[in-house]
Amino acid sequence: MKRDIGQLAEREFDLLIIGGGIYGVMAAWDAAERGLSVAVIDKGDFAGATSSNSLKIVHGGLRYIQHADIKRMRESIRERRMMMKLAPHLVHPLAFVMPTYGHFIKGPEAMFIALKINDLVSFDRNSLPDPQKHLPAGKIISKQECLQMIPGVDAENLTGGAIWYDAQLYNSERFIFSVLRSATDAGAVAVNYAEAVALLTQDKRVTGVRIHDRLSGNTFTVRSKIILNTTGPWLNRALRTLLPNLNHPPIALAKMMNLVTTRLFDAYSVGFYSKYEYKDKDAVISKGSRLYFVTPWRGLSMVGTAQTAYEGDPEDFTITRDDIQQFMNEINEAYPPANLSFDTVLYYYGGLLPIEPNYSDPRNVTLLKHYRLIDHQKEHGIQGLLSVMSVKYTTARDVTEKALNLAVQKLGQPERRTTLPERYIHGGDIPFFNDFLEAVQRERPLGLSESVLNHLAYNYGTAYREILAVAEQNPRLAKPLTGHPTILRAEVVYGIREEMAQHLDDIVFRRTELGPEGHPSDETLLDVAQLAAQELGWNPDQTAREIEAVKAIYEPVTGEKPQNQPQKTVLEGGN
Ligand SMILES: Cc1cc2nc3c(=O)[nH]c(=O)nc-3n(C[C@H](O)[C@H](O)[C@H](O)COP(=O)(O)OP(=O)(O)OC[C@H]3O[C@@H](n4cnc5c(N)ncnc54)[C@H](O)[C@@H]3O)c2cc1C
Repeated sequence: MKRDIGQLAEREFDLLIIGGGIYGVMAAWDAAERGLSVAVIDKGDFAGATSSNSLKIVHGGLRYIQHADIKRMRESIRERRMMMKLAPHLVHPLAFVMPTYGHFIKGPEAMFIALKINDLVSFDRNSLPDPQKHLPAGKIISKQECLQMIPGVDAENLTGGAIWYDAQLYNSERFIFSVLRSATDAGAVAVNYAEAVALLTQDKRVTGVRIHDRLSGNTFTVRSKIILNTTGPWLNRALRTLLPNLNHPPIALAKMMNLVTTRLFDAYSVGFYSKYEYKDKDAVISKGSRLYFVTPWRGLSMVGTAQTAYEGDPEDFTITRDDIQQFMNEINEAYPPANLSFDTVLYYYGGLLPIEPNYSDPRNVTLLKHYRLIDHQKEHGIQGLLSVMSVKYTTARDVTEKALNLAVQKLGQPERRTTLPERYIHGGDIPFFNDFLEAVQRERPLGLSESVLNHLAYNYGTAYREILAVAEQNPRLAKPLTGHPTILRAEVVYGIREEMAQHLDDIVFRRTELGPEGHPSDETLLDVAQLAAQELGWNPDQTAREIEAVKAIYEPVTGEKPQNQPQKTVLEGGN
């Protein structure tokens, strides 16, 4: 998978997708497998925005029971199963536990009914052959059991607890790169650091897009019959840029945040209630407070999700040290034993999601209930332009399938249905996950340690052999990064040669799992930077700037300002 921007200008595409988050890459894969000629571009790195910031829960939609929305539950249950099938190495079952209080809405009786409905509605949840992917039925536990599982949980009026099962993404960024690889293997063209800056139309029909190559600074035209706008929180902005005269009501956004912390719980994702009042105005049954979850993840915990209304430009979006402090206070108030501080918070995830408009309190916002698929021909008289946006990583395949059905119809081509449900993503050809793990360990390639092999198997699935192939070229590459136990140097090189990494942060935060573990040691960062410099031809100044840019991302948790104001290096030509 190489960045070959020249391919964009060479021909007219059936479909050009603007935005390479999960929605954009899923659409690209589906389109390529349906036989369309398709290109997907992103103005930054693929997976560089909302899609790497998720809490990584692959939702089966238990909470939609509150809204009596069985249809949405069924969609989520199907997509959860689909994600486990598409990527058996990256999507795994996860147990949840939550305290129950009193005997009314938050009580064990109401939860018992909710769990029973959930089990009934998800009657086919275990139809995948691999038992490792099966989700047991939910159950109610006693007050004592709950106190054992969540020591220090608010015991006033505590009446027990509820346990249920959902799924979790081990690595949401690697999921995206594997989908993208499947898309390019099926013929899609993918280019990062390529921004759509203007829409080209003729007689109110789209003919293409002006692209600004953010690596070389060049601008050129890409021709396409249909444009699919999957720019997530940039949807308003993209529409304003692409169609300056368009009168489209802006979609309201919320700032969302998760914290990565040292491990708080081992086996369960633990839910507890906020202390402040929260009203979900659309819920049939509103619990009156927000639920937070502390989720075990890659040996650490992920705590989420904070949400407040955001009225700025997505380009100006940041998470500040104050935002983190405020969220830590909220969590510590809701669950004092968490005792979060800047010593235990290692990293943060932040992103923007669409919300229902007309909120009165910026902390009491409600995420959009349903995805939006906008046909701009119907809404604004522009033929060939579609926009799609939603609030869940989990349902990206389903929503983009619908967008592509519409695109195929508009192309006037014979019906070409999605084939993704029969496929798996690159590296996902794993019928039984535990057998696969055992086989990798038995083989012990290159004498790698058990933990390195587990790490490779979880991140790359069967494509771990491609990392080994890089490692075999040079014994230096078969070693873990200096000061790191599991990430191989070969992964850095692979991320650059095969997955279009252009900058140090692309490697640290998206190609490898290094970044979210907290600020890497200086020696580890230098090792990655030197490998990247060699591959990408950076001079010492560029290398230093890349390192500073990565350090700046940690500033909200470390409190350390970078020495020089970091700037993203503009490379001539790029890869
Ligand atoms: C804190 C948080 C927690 C979440 N937790 C969960 C969860 O547990 N489970 C779940 O299912 N979902 C979760 N979500 C929701 C999920 O992450 C999003 O719904 C999903 O990632 C949105 O993907 P997207 O592709 O629409 O947007 P994005 O990932 O933001 O992709 C849009 C892309 O468009 C690009 N772009 C913008 N303008 C242009 C342009 N002019 N030219 C080229 N490219 C452009 C951007 O660079 C960006 O990469 C969470 C979200 C957040 C923020």
